[in-house]
Amino acid sequence: MSVEKAATDVALSAQGLRLGYGDLTAVWDVDIDVRPGRTTALLGRNGAGKTTLLSGLIGLLTAKSGTVTLHGKDITRLPPWTRVDRGLAIVREGKRIFRTLTVVENITVGMPKKLSRAGRAEALERIWEDFPVLAERRGQLGGQLSGGQQQMLSIATAVVARPTVLLVDEPSSGLSPLAVDQVLEVIDKLKADGLAILLVEQIVEEVLSGYADDVVLIDQGRVMLREPADRVSVDQITAVMFGTGS
Ligand code: ATP
Repeated sequence: MSVEKAATDVALSAQGLRLGYGDLTAVWDVDIDVRPGRTTALLGRNGAGKTTLLSGLIGLLTAKSGTVTLHGKDITRLPPWTRVDRGLAIVREGKRIFRTLTVVENITVGMPKKLSRAGRAEALERIWEDFPVLAERRGQLGGQLSGGQQQMLSIATAVVARPTVLLVDEPSSGLSPLAVDQVLEVIDKLKADGLAILLVEQIVEEVLSGYADDVVLIDQGRVMLREPADRVSVDQITAVMFGTGS
């Protein structure tokens, strides 16, 4: 992507976004941009405000101040379901699948109600292409899948409605290193299809090993670092994250 296109082509943007819980402010005036065909990694240690920021972007939390725009349109006051209708999707932490439904049933549940029978079949075919591991296990119960496969199923249910922006909260959580790689590969493939991705993670090294294009590091609800991924090192990021100096 040309530098010019990268600068102008923003899918999801927050400007001066302030969020919190009652009187507590957990995210302070954060600016963040997510672009089509790119992965922005949102990094930060426990309690930094990453999940709070995602909640504000999807509309589960109301902005105390600031704006959120999706493809240039202000969505700050819209409820989550309207944001989803407009192309925003979220994979929340913790592999939220139906364990007693099959893989295909889990995916079908996430389909937009307005889809025709042919549209549904087409959407499923696309999922099987993007997630061959799930295609092989389409008749298995969600609860019988491995942790990595459950995470892929979570992602599949989020993308079946063909969003343009995908927010993913700590997909590596509780997974083996091999499963983490497989899940990050799937996310990378979705990015290659043109999705704009905001990836929340704590595993700096893996994310920087070619998966992230842009990095935003937050601490105590404030942006501490914002760089293209190829301009920062793991050491630099951990130094800012843990105040260890480099
Ligand atoms: P983790 O990596 O542990 O998930 P995080 O970066 O996602 O952390 P948040 O969960 O966004 O961090 O938490 C940011 C701050 O907001 C923390 O101080 C946390 O204690 C507080 N917080 C989070 N959820 C709530 C809530 N429901 N009510 C009150 N305070 C909350």
